[in-house]
Amino acid sequence: MIPHNFPSPSIQIIGHGLAGAILAETLSQAGLRVSVYDDGGVSSSQVAAGMFTPLTGRRLIPSWSLEHAMPAVEQFYPSLEKKLGSTFFHPCSTLRIFRSLDEQAEWIKNRENGFTKPLSGDALPFQSSFGGCEIVGGGWVDLPLMLEGLTQRRKEKQEWGKLEAADITVWAEGVRASENPLWKDVGWRNAHGDILTLKIPDLPEDCIYNFGKFLVPLGNQKFRCGATYAWDECSPAPRAQGRQELEAEVRSFLKLPFEVLDHRAGIRPVAVARVPVAGPHPEEISQWIFNGFGSKGVLMAPWMAECVLAKITQGKELPKETRAARRMQRQRDRAKTYNR
Ligand SMILES: Cc1cc2nc3c(=O)[nH]c(=O)nc-3n(C[C@H](O)[C@H](O)[C@H](O)COP(=O)(O)OP(=O)(O)OC[C@H]3O[C@@H](n4cnc5c(N)ncnc54)[C@H](O)[C@@H]3O)c2cc1C
Repeated sequence: MIPHNFPSPSIQIIGHGLAGAILAETLSQAGLRVSVYDDGGVSSSQVAAGMFTPLTGRRLIPSWSLEHAMPAVEQFYPSLEKKLGSTFFHPCSTLRIFRSLDEQAEWIKNRENGFTKPLSGDALPFQSSFGGCEIVGGGWVDLPLMLEGLTQRRKEKQEWGKLEAADITVWAEGVRASENPLWKDVGWRNAHGDILTLKIPDLPEDCIYNFGKFLVPLGNQKFRCGATYAWDECSPAPRAQGRQELEAEVRSFLKLPFEVLDHRAGIRPVAVARVPVAGPHPEEISQWIFNGFGSKGVLMAPWMAECVLAKITQGKELPKETRAARRMQRQRDRAKTYNR
């Protein structure tokens, strides 16, 4: 809770994707005056697979600030499930199937990190000549379900809509930040992603599978399959070539028949520095940002929301890599160098 004598500022949050929603819940829970406004535009959170994992990339190394982010995940989502009375947090292992000797070698090099166990690929219905490993400590969140519950909660608490005047406005606009004159200097490199829903009748549904692409079990023989990365695509519409790429990858690894039920797409808000961006604008100090979660919104947003809360209530500095003012200054300096 905020200190007894703390003059609570009013906070307008713009955007109710996972970033705005998690921040609003964190600030409201701490007793701050919050209101959320969302105009119903495109939302990456509505198409995301919702996965979180301790290890990142082909090399399977721990994510940036994992030691802070994972405890926040383990606290935030289960406690929110209790508040909302619904089940959207699904911790489970990920079976990583190696596609090459290189991938296997990277795992052997990094496996002392404690997040993986060896896996015998023989029993799996995948082409797995290079074996694989089991990654523990991850899982997935049903984001549309969580956001529906949080929208309802904000409305019930009368924390939904535009404030006449706010002490702080926090922009959690997702990809639209790159068109907002306030935030264009953060530097954006957004990434389009296609994602399919597949029906795979005979695949066990107790874990996530990853073979470069992923299969997330949704229940009832359905799996979310993704995702592609297209860096120069500005429209969030699904792309035929994205579907082809995903289908081809599944066909070449999975030994089971499957059917495509659905094809969707979205754009990940990726900042050039590849870590989230938060805090006040360098010149307009009542204007804040909470964005740039890339492919790691589920993992990073609960901890980053706690950091923003601590900044507002205690003046505690945000992690330096994430500070908006610092990031924008760097981008501006870079632009000056290039334009010379
Ligand atoms: C195919 C795909 C798969 C993904 N898989 C994963 C995954 O497995 N795990 C993971 O962590 N991440 C994943 N992501 C990334 C994830 O979607 C993003 O990190 C996250 O959803 C970003 O949330 P956000 O709230 O910043 O943006 P969004 O979800 O896009 O929400 C922004 C919201 O702000 C509103 N808005 C914007 N501007 C305004 C304005 N001016 N006024 C009012 N409202 C406004 C919009 O209507 C929208 O509701 C995936 C993304 C894609 C595309």
